[in-house]
Amino acid sequence: MTILDQFRLEGQVALVTGVGRGLGQAMAVGLAEAGADIAGVYHTRYEDTETQVTALGRRFVPIQLDLRSASTEQLAQVVDQAVSALGRLDILVNNAGIVLRTPAIDYSEADWDAVLQVNLKSAFFLSQAAARVMVKQGRGKIIQVASLLSFQGGIYVPSYAAAKSGLAGVTKALANEWAALGINVNAIAPGYVRTDNTAALQADPERSSSILSRIPAGRWGEPDDLKGMTVFLASAASDYVHGAILNVDGGWMGR
Ligand code: NAP
Repeated sequence: MTILDQFRLEGQVALVTGVGRGLGQAMAVGLAEAGADIAGVYHTRYEDTETQVTALGRRFVPIQLDLRSASTEQLAQVVDQAVSALGRLDILVNNAGIVLRTPAIDYSEADWDAVLQVNLKSAFFLSQAAARVMVKQGRGKIIQVASLLSFQGGIYVPSYAAAKSGLAGVTKALANEWAALGINVNAIAPGYVRTDNTAALQADPERSSSILSRIPAGRWGEPDDLKGMTVFLASAASDYVHGAILNVDGGWMGR
């Protein structure tokens, strides 16, 4: 198989959370461009992504779930639904995430719990459910969407820093257990990308220009900037990559 063939995903099925907009949409479309069918977990929207995926000739199955309140049983059912609709599960992308900004001195327990639930707990239990299928298949690819706040503290986002730092730890912990089973667990740490998640930062002229001034690439990221790393980590080209947290950040962390 040539190196370019190793990137091909025809006949494979990817489950992507937060599939309807932002990074999840770009990652799902990137995986579909490489050949994968998509099971998309969404909360409020999926239609635009479905249109883009099916236009590529790939199948798209929407699965609705509110990850803020989902039980571990419901998370396992999502994996069952994907497998029964599309026949198998090769790739899981834990992308859904929320950020709730408040100074730490005033941070509420409800906001803390919500961010940890959506960004960390759901990612772990979806990984567990997916791995139970992947173990039987003898291979699988799990991609966590981490953050620069897997390494840094950020400002007014203590729960998000906790969740994303935790997700980096979970990535390494799962890789240690599952690499020998043929499952690759890795994370992508996006930099500052133009999505709804960063709308408040983009709208704040001071924060926006101070962020831009630190990005060596000289621009904010766009969701499509994530496609290459996603397809790489989902494909046979990354078979010897385990437990890595790979930055796609315009050079931010190297600064
Ligand atoms: P976004 O545009 O705000 O999208 C958030 C996604 O999460 C949406 O697809 C949303 O689903 C889903 N989601 C939120 N709450 C949910 C819930 N309760 N149940 C189910 N799904 C829920 O943000 P984004 O920038 O694309 O973020 C995607 C991931 O990248 C997040 O994990 C974020 O932390 C991470 N990230 C983003 C950046 C950045 O600069 N943008 C940087 C580093 C990491 P619906 O659309 O259906 O509501």
